[in-house]
Amino acid sequence: MTTASLLILPGDGIGPEVMAEVRKIIGWFGDKRGIDFDVSEDLVGGAAYDAHGTPLHDDTMAKAQEVDAVLLGAVGGPKYDALDFSVKPERGLLRLRKEMDLFSNLRPAQCFDALADFSSLKKDVVAGLDIMIVRELTSGVYFGEPRGIFEEGNERVGINTQRYTESEIARVARSAFELARKRGNKVCSMEKANVMESGILWRDVVQEIHDAEYPDVELSHMYADAGAMQLTRWPKQFDVIVTDNLFGDLLSDLAAMLTGSLGMLPSASLGLPMANGRPKALYEPVHGSAPDIAGQGKANPIACILSFAMALRYSFDLGDEATRLENAVEKVLADGLRTADLLGEEGVTPVSTSEMGDAIVAALDAGL
Ligand code: NAD
Repeated sequence: MTTASLLILPGDGIGPEVMAEVRKIIGWFGDKRGIDFDVSEDLVGGAAYDAHGTPLHDDTMAKAQEVDAVLLGAVGGPKYDALDFSVKPERGLLRLRKEMDLFSNLRPAQCFDALADFSSLKKDVVAGLDIMIVRELTSGVYFGEPRGIFEEGNERVGINTQRYTESEIARVARSAFELARKRGNKVCSMEKANVMESGILWRDVVQEIHDAEYPDVELSHMYADAGAMQLTRWPKQFDVIVTDNLFGDLLSDLAAMLTGSLGMLPSASLGLPMANGRPKALYEPVHGSAPDIAGQGKANPIACILSFAMALRYSFDLGDEATRLENAVEKVLADGLRTADLLGEEGVTPVSTSEMGDAIVAALDAGL
């Protein structure tokens, strides 16, 4: 019986290429593990604009609200650069995030041993690194009012407002504590409570939620600037980091790049639980549509494949199967297989996008 519905939105550029490899993985789980997904596919971004004149059709939006999880490739490309802002490919993605109310953005920074040399930090600092940044995604200074550029006397003033309600902080804190329970059981909350009232409230609410609902999880607090330093000094001290929209934007990019290539980085954006208990969820690689390599078989499909692993773990409660898939990725990298973005070392084997997907399927088979 099918219990897991998945909407696939390949998008533009390398999106369809990397998604084709995820399709192979989904097929493998159906054939070899008896885990059948009810998969539907639709258009987003430039591909949707070309077909419908809008980067996200209302029917696609409605489908996204109904399924257990959405898996997106990437959107955008030079062909669409001149379009009006309201119909740019990125607006399709933003509409999905907004209407699904995806307030909790999960960005793992995980370093596979075989790629430790790719980091700009020393190998022993990053080898085996596995941390998760939880960024609040729907509020804070990117959305607060008043905002704008105003005339004041004889000059202009630019204004943005950092604004957080208790409930906005509480729900992302819960999301971080829940995650920590599935990982290393440790949360570090980052803000600037030394200079920002919103930071004081953030710290208070995270502590209250912890004490009332998650006393078993180890909680610490850190100023975000000190957190940035600690992330580059000794990132392995962290398990889950929870922070606001602005600091999370910076810290998640910093943490992710500790681990090497953009072609390796998955992400998840989660919302409130649906009637079946599963959170509203959108999974996507961090990278864009990479028009410079699209159509050449050069794209690394691993970021998208690891995004599907996150779906297994966080939407479908299949943590063991997610680990199985991550181990298969680890194995092909340890065997020296590399897509174009990961070349440079001696003795590695260059592979195309589809050869990388095939190798991961073979590694899954070998692991049975
Ligand atoms: P990008 O992530 O598409 O590419 C940056 C660089 O990384 C390029 O050199 C590209 O070849 C390389 N790269 C990215 N993913 C790769 C992969 N899987 N394998 C190998 N190499 C990879 O960012 P960009 O060039 O700034 O943007 C290109 C387009 O993508 C733009 O239209 C932008 O708006 C859009 N974009 C979309 C998203 C998204 O869909 N979430 C995110 C970022 C950018």
